[in-house]
Amino acid sequence: MPAHAITVLMIEDNPIHARLIQNLLDASDLTYDLLTADSLAKGIERLDQGKIDVVLLDLVLPDSAEIATLESVRAAAPDIPIIVLTSLDDVSLAAKAVEAGAQDYLIKTDVNSMLLARSIHYAIERFRALSGEWDAPMFRLAQQQFLKAAQIMGLDDNIRERLLFPQRTHVVTLPFRRDEYNLVETVFGYRVQHLLTMGPTKGGIRYHEDVNLGETSALAMWMTWKCALMNLPFGGAKGGVRIDPTELSRRELQRLTRRYTSEIINIIGPDKDIPAPDMGTDEQVMAWIMDTYSQQAGYTVPGVVTGKPVVLGGSLGRKEATGRGLVYLIEAAAKHIGLSLNEASAVVQGFGNVGSNTVRFLEEDGVKVVAVSDVTTGIYNANGLSLQSLIDYIAENRFLKGYPEGDEVSNEELLELPCDILAPAALQNQITGENADRVTCKMLAEGANGPTTLEADEILNNKGVFILPDVLGNAGGVTVSYFEWVQDTQNYMWSLKEINNRLHEILLDAFERTVARSVGDNIDMRTAALIEGINRVTQAKLLRGVFP
Ligand code: GLU
Repeated sequence: MPAHAITVLMIEDNPIHARLIQNLLDASDLTYDLLTADSLAKGIERLDQGKIDVVLLDLVLPDSAEIATLESVRAAAPDIPIIVLTSLDDVSLAAKAVEAGAQDYLIKTDVNSMLLARSIHYAIERFRALSGEWDAPMFRLAQQQFLKAAQIMGLDDNIRERLLFPQRTHVVTLPFRRDEYNLVETVFGYRVQHLLTMGPTKGGIRYHEDVNLGETSALAMWMTWKCALMNLPFGGAKGGVRIDPTELSRRELQRLTRRYTSEIINIIGPDKDIPAPDMGTDEQVMAWIMDTYSQQAGYTVPGVVTGKPVVLGGSLGRKEATGRGLVYLIEAAAKHIGLSLNEASAVVQGFGNVGSNTVRFLEEDGVKVVAVSDVTTGIYNANGLSLQSLIDYIAENRFLKGYPEGDEVSNEELLELPCDILAPAALQNQITGENADRVTCKMLAEGANGPTTLEADEILNNKGVFILPDVLGNAGGVTVSYFEWVQDTQNYMWSLKEINNRLHEILLDAFERTVARSVGDNIDMRTAALIEGINRVTQAKLLRGVFP
C-alpha cells in the first residue's frame, strides 16, 4: 500500500455507519486523512475545495438518493475515484453505480478493513490507468460486466484485481506508406494478452479506425472468458491497428500487415500467442502474417495464426465457423424458449463474414431474414430477403447501398424492426439504454463482441428477451480456430463433418452449462456465461499459485 497519506472524503449521513468505516480504516494499513460530510451539498462543497484522493459515498443521503447521488458527485469531481458504500446487496444497483462512473461498490455490513483498504488502493490505481489510452467505453463495459459477475459469484478479491487488467500489452507505432503518396504515416498498433495462465493466448486482429488500447484490452478480456467457457486451452488476446481498412489497396494492406507482424513478432508464435481474423482482417491477411513470421523463422510455421486459407494449413469450416456456431446456438435457444424456426423472422446487423454466414445458416433453417445491413445502409423487406441475391449485388457493388429488393433503413431503425431473432454482427455498443426499450425481438443472438451495454442488458432481461451473449454466441470462431491450431501442430487434417460435429458438441455443452447456471442461480445469461468462464480461470490461477 502507498506510504503517503490518502485523503478520503466520506459522504455518509448515518453516524453509526460513519463510525464503522472510520474504525475499519483505523484498523487497516492505510495512512489516511479522513474528512466527512453528512449530506450531498456538504460533500460537494468539500470537493470544490480540492485535494481529495478518493470519495466513499453513501447513495442515500438526506438531500439526494440512489444513482442521482452518484451522478452529482461524479459531475462535481470528474477526476476523483468514487467507491459506493451501501447497506444493500443489490447487484443491479452495483452495476448501475459502476456504469454511472463508480470505481467500486462495497456492502457496509460485509466489508472488513483489509477489503476496504484494498478497494481504496485499487480504485485510485484503476482511475489512473483508465485515463488516456485505456479509457475506452468498451473497456469500461468489459470491466463492468466482470465486476458484476465477480460480485454475484463472490470472487476471491486477489483474483478479481488480477483479472481487471491485461497481463501484457504491447503498443507499437509503425511507418506506413500509401501507394500514391511519398508520405510516411505513423500508425498505431496493439497486441494485448489478457491472461497467460491457461496456455498460449488467442484472439483476432482488428483493423479499424477506432482501435485503441482500451478497446483491444476489452476484446482480449472477452476472449479469456470465451475460451474458458468453451474449455479451450487458451487465455485471451486481441490485436489491432488503428486505420480504416476500407480505404486501403491490396498492396497497402499487405505492407501494413507485414510491418505490423514484424513489430509484434517476438510476442506471437504457436506456443505463445496465436492471432486470427477479426473485423477488417481476413484469410489473406492471415496468410501474410504467417508468411512474414515464417520468413523470420526460416521455415513454414502454419500454427502461428488461425483463420488461414485452407491450402496454407487452414481448417475446413473455419471461415464460416462464427456464423455457423451462432446458428447452432440459435437452434438450441429456440428449442429452449419454444420458438419454431421455420415460422420465425430475423434481422441481422452487419454483412461481413459473421453476418453473411449467419444469414446463410438461418436461411437453411427456414428462418425468414427480413433485414440486413452493412456500413452504407440497412435493407428491409418484410417478405424476406434472398441471400444469393444480396451476395450477387455485393459482388458487383461492394456495398448494400442501392440494393433494389427492399427498403432502405438506417442502422438505428434496423435494430427496432419487428422480428423474433435479432443478431447484431457488426460493431460494439449498438443496443444501449437509449434504444433497448424499442427492441422487439424474442431472442438477441450476439455475433459481434460487446454490442449490448449493461443498461440495455437490464432492460432486455426485464422484457424477457432471451440473450445469447457474445462470449457464447460468437465462440464458434475461436473454437474452430482451436481445431485449426491442433491440426497444424499435429500435421493431421480433419474432415468438415468431424469439425462441425465437434463444434456443435462444444457449443451445446457450453450453452447447456450456461442455461443451467442462469436458471439455477436466477441470473441473466451473460452473467452466467461470464461466471462459467471466470470460475475456470480462477481454479487454474489458484492451482498454479503465485510466482515466486
Ligand atoms: N476474432 C474472433 C473472436 O472475436 C476469433 C478469434 C480467434 O479465432 O482466435 O472471437
